[in-house]
Amino acid sequence: MVAADAAIVDGASRGPTAVLAVDGEIARVGDPADVAADPRAAGARHIDWSGRALIPGTVNAHNHSFQSLLRGIGDDLPFLEWRQRALYRYSPGLGPGEMATAALFAFGEMLLHGVTTVCDFYYVNRQANDNALATIDAARRLGIRIVLARCFYDWDGAPAAYREDVRGAVRNFEELHRQAGDPVRRMVSVQPAPHSLHAASPAMIEAGAGCARDARTSWHIHLAEERYQVDEALARTGARPLHAVDRMGLLDERMIAVHGCWFDDSERALMAERGAALAYCPASNMFLGDGVTDVVDLRRRGVPVALGTDGGCSNSRVSVLDEMRSAALLQKVARTDGQAITAEECFAMGTELGGRVLDVPVGRVAPGFRADLVALDLGDPSLWPVQALAKNAVYSLSARAITDVVVDGTVVVQDRRLVRVDQHEIATRVRAVTGQWGRA
Ligand SMILES: [Zn+2]
Repeated sequence: MVAADAAIVDGASRGPTAVLAVDGEIARVGDPADVAADPRAAGARHIDWSGRALIPGTVNAHNHSFQSLLRGIGDDLPFLEWRQRALYRYSPGLGPGEMATAALFAFGEMLLHGVTTVCDFYYVNRQANDNALATIDAARRLGIRIVLARCFYDWDGAPAAYREDVRGAVRNFEELHRQAGDPVRRMVSVQPAPHSLHAASPAMIEAGAGCARDARTSWHIHLAEERYQVDEALARTGARPLHAVDRMGLLDERMIAVHGCWFDDSERALMAERGAALAYCPASNMFLGDGVTDVVDLRRRGVPVALGTDGGCSNSRVSVLDEMRSAALLQKVARTDGQAITAEECFAMGTELGGRVLDVPVGRVAPGFRADLVALDLGDPSLWPVQALAKNAVYSLSARAITDVVVDGTVVVQDRRLVRVDQHEIATRVRAVTGQWGRA
């Protein structure tokens, strides 16, 4: 049982609040005295978050963990130059040991920022699952919840380490799904992720969507991130990106489009009509100068939108609370309208909608959801005055205020430190892998 002096529950601030979890699942939420009197609370461990506010753990719906190793190496370069000099130069040589280091680094930093579920869109597979399994093991060690979006990739312009043939990709996905998926506690999910229209052939995209159907999961695909990708889709298929997927007969409620910066009106309408979802990465889109997804319109049409930080080298931050603020500011300036979107709507995108989009029962402090909770220090000036908690958590919060994190009922961050992995170990490993990188 966790008891805090304040909370954000279903988007609204409230006073003293307790949460009772049984086997990692929230059983009851309410006033501390009432929750303590619940017979199921007898013998439960008490976690005292006095002086703190309790919020749902945040959901990072799109990330590439290995890219954290490349942070700062190649920033501010033109995309193709960055890809050649940083991404393609260093990533193909990364094996399971380096991938575990990258994941401990990326996910560890995320936990310290209040991320409790991460979706890792994973494309350096080297025709096998060892790298993905090392990444999942690192998540298990830290205690963060992971959705491994295993990539399907066959564009021959990329390093061989990214590429597979269709049969190999399907076989590896099915094996990983069977081997690593955790249908009970949902700490690990495996979902297919054909990379994009430019890096996966139609046969590969069909195979990825087919695997999602067979495994009854969602599937992920980068779409319309940069403007040239719309021109490319038009030239190659005669249709805009989302229409191209629809013509393949694959656009349905299982599909999660990533980015969608250049979706036009007809594509946004089609997203709603087919029940598809979006993983939105506002800071990454700004960092790379991609463009502005019309999230206000998508939400108005009822499209579920989750938030992602994207990789460490196309954003440099790993905080979903930060993405909530970025989403709000970018949508407001794009429409030159300070009321275009609210803090509460952005908070929902980073929590409840994230869980819904990834199809994992997280993101709400409510019975039936997994017990993923974050504590904010009410003594931190970035949250004052505290009566405006629901606004301040999005607009003014400093990462310094994040003190404790619980995932699936287990404490994984305490007093701003990782509990299960020594941060010195992560620092040493990151230095060992990247020490010579970026030097000429
Ligand atoms: Zn991405």
